[in-house]
Amino acid sequence: MSDLRQRFFIENSPIRGEIVHLEEALQTVLAKREYMPAVQSLLGEMLSATALLASTLKIQGRISLQIQANGTFKWAMAECNHLGEVRALADYEEDPRFAEGTDSSTVLAALTNPILFINIEPEHGERYQGIVPLDQPTLAGCLIQYYDLSAQIPTHIVLATNSQRSGGLLIQLLPRNDEEEQRLVDEDLWPRLTMLTETLKPEELTDLSADEILYRLYNEEEVRLPDVEELKFGCTCSRERCANALIQIGVTAVHESLEVQNPIQMDCQCCNTRYEFTAEEALALFGEHLS
Ligand SMILES: [Zn+2]
Repeated sequence: MSDLRQRFFIENSPIRGEIVHLEEALQTVLAKREYMPAVQSLLGEMLSATALLASTLKIQGRISLQIQANGTFKWAMAECNHLGEVRALADYEEDPRFAEGTDSSTVLAALTNPILFINIEPEHGERYQGIVPLDQPTLAGCLIQYYDLSAQIPTHIVLATNSQRSGGLLIQLLPRNDEEEQRLVDEDLWPRLTMLTETLKPEELTDLSADEILYRLYNEEEVRLPDVEELKFGCTCSRERCANALIQIGVTAVHESLEVQNPIQMDCQCCNTRYEFTAEEALALFGEHLS
């Protein structure tokens, strides 16, 4: 399995974590459009990050990271749902600064007035949107800071990507409930594991297996591994979501579109699926009929 998520638990401690590797899904994303190297690196890291964050949620639904900016880089998004399906997309203008860059820092440094949103969309229930300050050099740094300040769950994240694969590792110190639990904890464990995690080189994160990474970092601890989960490319586009988009733009705009293009064609930019709406179908969304 090339695309996977391995959770792990440090025994007798409130520390959990996970490792993700994405290869086929990354290749699928990069095959849809021609991205410059620095943008590839950013998308690889965003994919790994959403796959890590999705696992920290106990909901059915999806989590996405979304960067918006002015300047040559317009936006990027990556998403992962509870089934382990990931997708990502970016839009930018050619910029010589993006010709090189092995991690997210190249694009992040080039952004003008950027905002990073973290969106949580449960299938049932309320959506959540958080804003992650982009004032650290790398995506991992920004997310660590976000968890410390906003979520108040000490979290450490490392991300790395190359032209083949992207990898990510997250460890989290879970809240402890009662005093007895507090006393049992080795207070030194979290700083020690965070420091060890920082020693992982980018090429180790992308190229070593999850088992090898865990051994390399935490061989002094007892690590428990649940079953590995599969990750894959998957698009959440649907005819229903396209119909909703048409309803959103309104009946006047739909009439105008039909004058230019009939049937209306809507292409998903993530997976290239085309959805078509004949005039009859499009107007039926508004309860109108062709006369
Ligand atoms: Zn799609």
